[in-house]
Amino acid sequence: MNTAPPHLPPRVRAVVDLDAVRANVHALRARAAVAELMAVVKSDAYGHGMVPCARAAREAGASWLGTATPEEALALRAAGDTGRVLAWLWTPGGPWKQAIEADVDVSASGLWALREIVAAAAEAGRGARVQLKVDTGLGRNGCQPADWRELVDAARAAESTGALRVTGIWSHFACADEPGHPSIEAQLAVYRDALAVAEAAGLRPEVRHMANSAAALTLPQSHFDLVRAGVSVYGLSPSPELGVPADFGLRPAMTLSAGLASVKRVPGGHGVSYGHHYTTPGETTLALVPAGYADGVPRHGSGCGPVLVAGKWRTVAGRVAMDQFVVDLGGDTAEVGDEAVLFGPGDRGEPTAEDWARAIGTIGYEIVTRIGPRVPRVYVGV
Ligand SMILES: *Cc1c(COP(=O)(O)O)cnc(C)c1O
Repeated sequence: MNTAPPHLPPRVRAVVDLDAVRANVHALRARAAVAELMAVVKSDAYGHGMVPCARAAREAGASWLGTATPEEALALRAAGDTGRVLAWLWTPGGPWKQAIEADVDVSASGLWALREIVAAAAEAGRGARVQLKVDTGLGRNGCQPADWRELVDAARAAESTGALRVTGIWSHFACADEPGHPSIEAQLAVYRDALAVAEAAGLRPEVRHMANSAAALTLPQSHFDLVRAGVSVYGLSPSPELGVPADFGLRPAMTLSAGLASVKRVPGGHGVSYGHHYTTPGETTLALVPAGYADGVPRHGSGCGPVLVAGKWRTVAGRVAMDQFVVDLGGDTAEVGDEAVLFGPGDRGEPTAEDWARAIGTIGYEIVTRIGPRVPRVYVGV
């Protein structure tokens, strides 16, 4: 973790506001009043830094943390987290035993996983906590409804030997960010049927859960015992069609900025960056921003990515290179070292991650998650 004070002149840095993370968790808990909140901290907390964000989310009342990979869950344990953690993306080989020993809830979508869990629990000498995932229509991971009874019966049989306890039954939406999409009610119906099958077989899960951020914010009938909130914890809206973050009381936690590495006058007709896809229309001032695609600035932002420099929105001039890109300041000036803000919460007039997403045809999730390991994360509100 980089702890340089926020006032030091940076090359490039991502300032992450942990007060915003805490406030977002509070806002989400208020929305999902009867359900517990799982803060999803996979992929380095969507690029924000897993351990500090997990800690902030816990402080704000997240009773669960969620990760994709077991390695992420084990990293939380290594950092001292002792609360409930679910890891859901497994491949043969686990590491099941390490996860069981670390008190991580594991997930099974099929018999192969259940078999490996039972074997690992025997090796570990303790029962595993297992959550069964049903595919209610996403078509990704999860047990098909046709195979569900077999998985449930096998889990119940393993439960009766003490090898494991089924702590959760869960699923994931395909289109929760499109209110009224017919798949939403269809998935909920399949999920309720799967719950009924599990209960009839004698399973008594602690937590039943389906909701991601979009569902946590807009679909109270999907909340059950727990909501799994990811992108909203970091203050992004799951979809611009649903609303902007402020509509849900959310605030973007990350600000990506850099200090200008060069500011210089150039004549008209000067080519800019690889391929000369931009040529200065007249004598002008070019500013060099020392952040590039190696830092996670999308190369697709060439010629279209927004950036606040010298008090105005500018557009990336020419190509984004691996380590740097250029903006044309036109008739304005700046000093070397002045701040260029690629995105942030928007309070200072800077673009947001959503603005970048719109500019390059992706989603805000990808803009923040792709910020690379070369960019120091600087935490405020620690
Ligand atoms: C990533 C993920 C989430 C969180 O989704 P958001 O849209 O970011 O809230 C929830 N559940 C699962 C299974 C996920 O993979």
